[in-house]
Order: sequence, then C-alpha cells, then structure tokens
Amino acid sequence: MTFQDFNFNPDLIEGLLAMGYTKPTPIQEQAIPVILHDRDLIACAQTGTGKTAAYLLPILHNIQKAEHRHLNTLIIAPTRELALQIDQQIEALGYFINVSSITVYGGGSGVVWEQQKKAMQLGADVVIATPGRLISMLTVGDISFKHLEHLVLDEADRMLDMGFYDDIVRIISYLPEDRQTLLFSATMPPKIRALANQILREPAEINIAISKPADGILQMAYMVYDQQKFGLLKHLFKETDYKSVIIFCSRKETVKRLATDLKKVIPNLQAFHSDLEQEQREEIMRNFKNRQVQVLVGTDILSRGIDVTGIDLVINFDVPPDGEDYIHRIGRTARAETTGTAITFINDQDQQRFASIERLIGREIPKTIIPPALGEGPSYQPGERRGGGGGHRHGGGGKGRSGGGGPRHGGGNKSGGGGQRHGGSHGGPKKPQP
Ligand code: AMP
Repeated sequence: MTFQDFNFNPDLIEGLLAMGYTKPTPIQEQAIPVILHDRDLIACAQTGTGKTAAYLLPILHNIQKAEHRHLNTLIIAPTRELALQIDQQIEALGYFINVSSITVYGGGSGVVWEQQKKAMQLGADVVIATPGRLISMLTVGDISFKHLEHLVLDEADRMLDMGFYDDIVRIISYLPEDRQTLLFSATMPPKIRALANQILREPAEINIAISKPADGILQMAYMVYDQQKFGLLKHLFKETDYKSVIIFCSRKETVKRLATDLKKVIPNLQAFHSDLEQEQREEIMRNFKNRQVQVLVGTDILSRGIDVTGIDLVINFDVPPDGEDYIHRIGRTARAETTGTAITFINDQDQQRFASIERLIGREIPKTIIPPALGEGPSYQPGERRGGGGGHRHGGGGKGRSGGGGPRHGGGNKSGGGGQRHGGSHGGPKKPQP
C-alpha cells in the first residue's frame, strides 16, 4: 500500500514525501480509510507507530474541503510537549497546503493567556490543547466550537492517569454532537472503554500491538551530561567485564567520533554506519560474531535485523528517537533466552523522550547516579516544562496561501507565549523538520 492509494490532496502528498514518509505504517494503513469515511475510531497504538500522522493526514485532507474551517478540529493532548510535537507535525505535513493551527496550554503569564484566548476567538483550523487550559478558556472565554468537525483525544490513557476524565467530559459538552471523534491510547484499561462508550458513536477499532523487551534484559539508565558520557563509558568498561558490546548512537557523526576516541582505550572496537561499503559491514559483522571485535559502535542500522547471540551489553549513548527504536536496540542483547544488560545514557535534553519510552514499555527504568569522580549529573525531571508558549500559524508556505482574518505576524517566531503566527514567508520548499 502507498499513500497514493488514499487519494489525498496532491499538496498533502508532497508534504509527506518531503518528510521522508515513503509508505504508510500499519496504524496509518488501518486508520486513514476509517477516518476518511467519517467514522469514529478507537485505536490502541503507542508513540513510535506513526499514530499522529495516522489522524493528521486524513484530517488535513478533509480540512481542505471543509465548508467551515474556523475551529474545525480540536486535538486534546495530555502535555504541552505532546501538543507542541503535534503542532510541529501539522506544520511539516501541511507545509504545502493551507492550514492554520494554534496550541493552547497552561503556564505562562496573563499575556500568554490573553494571546491564546484571542487566537482561539479569531479561529484557526486546528486547535491543539491540553485539557486544563482548554476548560478554563471555555469557561471564561467567548469561544464557540459550533463548526467543529473532528475531535481527537491523543494519549487518552495518559490523560485519564493525570486525572482529566471530568475535564474531558466537560470539554465535550461544549462541542457539537455531530462530529467525528477519534480516540488514541497506548493501553486500553476499563476506564478508557468507559470513556469511549460515553463519547464515541459505533467506532471502528484498531489495535496495533508492539513487541515488549525480553524479560532477560536488565535495563538501567544513567543521568549524565553530554560532556560526562565518554568518562562514564570508560568507567563502565574498566569496572565490568563485558565480552560483547554494542554502543548505539543516533547520528553517524557521533559514531565516528566516539569510535575514534574509544579505540584508544578498547583496541578491538569497530564503527558501523551507513557510510561503510556493504563488504566492509559484512566483514565487521563476521568479526563481531566470532568475537575478534568486542565492541561495535553503530547507528540504528545495527538495531534491526542483526541476530548475534551472546551480546551481553547494549549501551544507548543517547536516548533513541522513539520507543520502537529502543526496543529494537536493547533487543540485540538477551537473545535466545539468554540474559543481558541495556544501559541508556540520558542527558538533560532527552528526559522527556525517555519518559515516553518508559510509558511505551510500561515500566520505569531505574536511574543510576554517575560515579562522583565524573562530577554531578543532571537530575531526572521529565515533567519539567521546557520551551515557549502557544503559537498560531497559518501554513501553506510552499505554494502561496490564503490569508484568514486574524492578526498577521511575519512567519517567524513560533515560541514566546501564545502568540499567533501566520506563515507564508518561507523561502521556497525545504525539507520540513518534524
Ligand atoms: P508517532 O507515533 O506519531 O509519534 O510517530 C513516530 C515517528 O514516526 C515520528 O517521527 C514520525 O514523523 C514518523 N513517521 C510517522 N509516519 C511515518 C511514515 N509513514 N514513514 C516514516 N516515518 C513516519
């Protein structure tokens, strides 16, 4: 199946190809036709499966044809971080179409509140909101969702865990009954079923199972600043006696640099990345299997497909991009019923990402403090808010775009607290960054 099979707006296809999406993921294959047919949906799918694009693509397609675009779609997400990520995906996927979006979430000053409220009143096509702030806005603001066509609850189980059940039900009381409702959740506990029964109408159901890490893997993590990571690696190799090790880095530049530095300490070490010729890679793998090479430093190309037994340690030199990658990486150890250790280095920037991996695999990984000789590492506070405030943007940068009646700011600053942004000033097509 390809994205062409969905008959999407060609400009939308252009956006997703620019994102590097070549074929739909399983959740996209299953969810997109359902959503395009205006059915309600309950989908069990975790982060990392492509669930965001699974609902955004058909909604963005439909918005292009909608009679009323003013507050056409409401996406409710548990945290500001997720709300911002969703908005970034709208910006990237909708790069070549005309779409506007606004994020609404708590925190910030009274000015931020006023900006968010004004932006909502003026209307954007898509609102991405956290429940607490949205309910406050609905209670006191003069905001009407009478033209709403799509409601999405993203990470619904997490919202319920955070105690938002009543807020969600209250928010829905402000919405038209004749709407499409899409509920995405990583797990399906009874309270999600209860919510679904209350707010969905004869929903289609999709369940995308994700494999869990093998029980034989001892998972642990260190809180560490980037400049301490190399010292921590040296410490681990000095203090322990691992026979066969893979160190994963997300970027091949890091692989090359780290391998060069670490080779001075561990001579039988090899780098493994996409710049190597196929023959070179095969030779390295042979030597790794027969233990002539003790340590491989590689990118995620190593995480899938290689099946070497006896790897006793996997180190994530950085937190993998998503939960699937984490599972694939650490699954290189403890193969065939053996045991192994997986250690992840978490810097101050990657905490939120690691927390979402923990949610995906359904358990918390113990965090270890780095040896005192390396200095003090960061503390683990994934809930800490980072980044700017909400924004409002009118997209469609690639091919001209229509205006919309709202305030106009140059297509630049998207942070800075609930501001409103109308784009359209991009200097020509470029690859959107999700
Ligand atoms: P999500 O599960 O929505 O958090 O998406 C996980 C990651 O997969 C994001 O970085 C997306 O940009 C990416 N992604 C989503 N759909 C596709 C696709 N069809 N092909 C490649 N990457 C995708």
